[in-house]
Amino acid sequence: MSDLDLIVQRLELRGHRITGSRRRVLEALAAAPAHFTVDDVLRMARGVGRATVFRTMKLLQDLNVVCRVLMEDGSLHYRLSARGHHHHLVCRSCGRVEDFANCDVSSLVDQLAASTEYEIEGHWLEVYGKCASCRILEQVEAPV
Ligand SMILES: [Zn+2]
Ligand SMILES: [Zn+2]
Ligand SMILES: [Zn+2]
Repeated sequence: MSDLDLIVQRLELRGHRITGSRRRVLEALAAAPAHFTVDDVLRMARGVGRATVFRTMKLLQDLNVVCRVLMEDGSLHYRLSARGHHHHLVCRSCGRVEDFANCDVSSLVDQLAASTEYEIEGHWLEVYGKCASCRILEQVEAPV
């Protein structure tokens, strides 16, 4: 089954109709690189209005079909993802993104809730660094 079929199936299972413009957005996502911006989707899903693209992206986020990645330059990217709660490891040099799910901030959240009397509803954590291939490349290129 292709990515596209899987996404369509997931939407239909949750009772969402696949309209023509929704399908065009989904096709764009299936063909997109590992992570992409809303502008990329707008460019690829020709003829689909901005509001529809934004609404569809929001729906896909709520359904855990896509997740958001905050790049180090502050831009917001999207990425296909079937995972539930997770975080990203982002390479600052080549921009590759990896997921990690072993989120261990629960003690911090408990602490915050106790000390501030907030009801904590969520958190966001991205980790930035340099991937193994970029580090090797750097060593090769570094002057002796
Ligand atoms: Zn993700
Ligand atoms: Zn890299
Ligand atoms: Zn977390």
